Amino acid sequence: MINFEYARASDVTDALRLITADGGAKFIAGGTNLIDLIKSDVEHPTRLVDISRLPLNKIEELASGGLRIGALVSNSDLAYHPLVERRYPVLASAILAGASPQLRNMASTGGNLLQRTRCYYFYDTATPCNKREPGSGCSAIDGLNRMHAILGTSDTCIATHPSDMCVALAMLEAKVHTTGPSGDRSIAIADFHRLPGDTPQLDTNLAPGEIITGIELPAQGFTDHYTYLKVRDRLSYAFALVSVAAGLELEGNTIKEARLALGGVAHKPWRDTAAEAVLRGQPANQAGFAQAADRLLHDAKRFAHNAFKIDLARRAIVRALMQASRQAPQSQSDKKIR
Ligand SMILES: Cc1cc2nc3c(=O)[nH]c(=O)nc-3n(C[C@H](O)[C@H](O)[C@H](O)COP(=O)(O)OP(=O)(O)OC[C@H]3O[C@@H](n4cnc5c(N)ncnc54)[C@H](O)[C@@H]3O)c2cc1C
Ligand code: SF4
Repeated sequence: MINFEYARASDVTDALRLITADGGAKFIAGGTNLIDLIKSDVEHPTRLVDISRLPLNKIEELASGGLRIGALVSNSDLAYHPLVERRYPVLASAILAGASPQLRNMASTGGNLLQRTRCYYFYDTATPCNKREPGSGCSAIDGLNRMHAILGTSDTCIATHPSDMCVALAMLEAKVHTTGPSGDRSIAIADFHRLPGDTPQLDTNLAPGEIITGIELPAQGFTDHYTYLKVRDRLSYAFALVSVAAGLELEGNTIKEARLALGGVAHKPWRDTAAEAVLRGQPANQAGFAQAADRLLHDAKRFAHNAFKIDLARRAIVRALMQASRQAPQSQSDKKIR
């Protein structure tokens, strides 16, 4: 029996009061990740602060032309919102590539940003894991590492970030809005998630006691030329081996603007502005896309079982950019299932 307190927050101020009053407290939103982690004995919160009924469930248009998405908007409501479908189809597509309809109905926008790695050893408390227990060692480096990272790894952790939604947010240059004991913050998505370095136990730069209140999307949604391509072991209900969110702005066949973010390859959604720069001003063709892929994967590092990911990522980048340039985005087979 694991004992913990449960408290439902009535508003954001109340949520902050409840979380700061107990150093072992955690917020719970949809619970689709946190409850599994508690049941697996990985997380041991002394108090759950239920934020699921806070009024952070709206999607609002901003004067800047962008959108503000409340942290408690469910993944389903976000993917099927008419403004998101029309103006940010890459985000809708990425969300619908993840989990199952039932999970997306429960999962929140804030919780998706903070979901933890799917490294098998992280969930297996019988094995060493620096993320779960700092200083205990990394079982994946010399163990089974087929799903693991090829970019931005460290000697302490080679886990990947599992989110699909976050890959599209990285490509779109979203901002994460938070509030906490030190006030409000707006964090660029590129600075929100961390690389493992020598502190793999920290997934993000969220401060203790801070709550995510929403996400802001800029006006540019790459509606004409985009794709979210997810390569995985099964067609649905599986995490990405490699995923690519791509967006292009074309003038004729010349690339005016390019965005590229990868999932399944690093401890955070991986965006490489140098690879994007390779594409700008160039014709939209396979040779140029392959050059950008080579630039992005230049420093990729293989482990015993995941060498295939480097080639897979290279081909996925080229295919995603081809699909984006041809206005043939990857379609999601379960798009109409709610
Ligand atoms: C079987 C399965 C398959 C899945 N497949 C995929 C997939 O293919 N792709 C994918 O992207 N995801 C997938 N997911 C993950 C799913 O998307 C996440 O579990 C979900 O998004 C988490 O949201 P939640 O609201 O349930 O978070 P919770 O479980 O409630 O919380 C997760 C964490 O976030 C914290 N938190 C939540 N909200 C806030 C907030 N507003 N501010 C601060 N902290 C907060 C909690 O304290 C907790 O630490 C899968 C999940 C399962 C169980
Ligand atoms: S890769 Fe990271 S999460 Fe997995 S066992 Fe190593 S330290 Fe733990």
